[in-house]
Amino acid sequence: MPSNPAKLKVIWLQGITCNGNTHSFLNDPALGTLLETIEFIHHPLLPCQKTLKDLVKKVPKSDVLIFEGAYSAPFERAGVEMRTLLPALAHKAKHIISMGSCASFGGIFKENDPEHISGIVFDKENGSGPLKAMQEKVITLSGCPAHPKWLSFVIDMISAGREILVDEFRRPKELYAYLVHNGCLRNEYFEWKVDSERFGTKEGCLFYAQGCQGPYTHGSCNKILWNDVSSKTRSGTPCVGCTEPAFPKRDLFTTKTYMSIPSEMPLGIPKRSYLALAGAAKSFHIKRLEERLIDDHA
Ligand code: SF4
Repeated sequence: MPSNPAKLKVIWLQGITCNGNTHSFLNDPALGTLLETIEFIHHPLLPCQKTLKDLVKKVPKSDVLIFEGAYSAPFERAGVEMRTLLPALAHKAKHIISMGSCASFGGIFKENDPEHISGIVFDKENGSGPLKAMQEKVITLSGCPAHPKWLSFVIDMISAGREILVDEFRRPKELYAYLVHNGCLRNEYFEWKVDSERFGTKEGCLFYAQGCQGPYTHGSCNKILWNDVSSKTRSGTPCVGCTEPAFPKRDLFTTKTYMSIPSEMPLGIPKRSYLALAGAAKSFHIKRLEERLIDDHA
């Protein structure tokens, strides 16, 4: 396949993965537009120039190396251990993207082997992954999976030669400075302490009883919607905090409380402030917020 000099040359390499980020990427409604700006030297599923065996024989230069899945040093691709293959490709890449929470922090796979599985730069919160020495060229796109538009944003910024401002985990601030709580349609229920009664309803907040992690989780899920239409909390499912290094947390869908007060305060909110506001809000009953939004008879 002839190379197009105007397109970014991308290698997509997989560690230990469920393919979730590849599926997310392939489900981007704007995938066609993205593919006009990049071409794959290698992708595990899409048409590309080289097989993994080709990459192993002669490691090529690339504009962007995208790594999906968790890192384990002895894990092999095309007969080569990841401790050799990943640094070799990384040294020849101008930019590196850790795609998804496993590549970023270890994620779900780390649960099986906490000692030996990590992300490529971070091991949970610790910057002790195999590419820590070259982290300046790594962009973290955590999420289980990462939103395909987050990848498009980074690719567009790289194509345009623009600087990407990042947080302490090298996540783009433009995408991760927000909390999932920001933009959630249930904010008014949160403010007035009105619970959601069950999953899948349009009414109520999922924080007080169903363990919603939105007030602790950095991500733009309620700003850049999934499939352009929805998000977990908009569809009535609690946020599970999948963009954070601590993911996966235990006891999902449960809010730990102490004397009916959530044991973990929303990020940055002092307990005294929370209690003062919660006490006042709970003393009012807002009839509109206790009614069904659309179908009162279902
Ligand atoms: S459902 Fe979650 S994200 Fe939405 S307002 Fe309640 S706590 Fe915030």
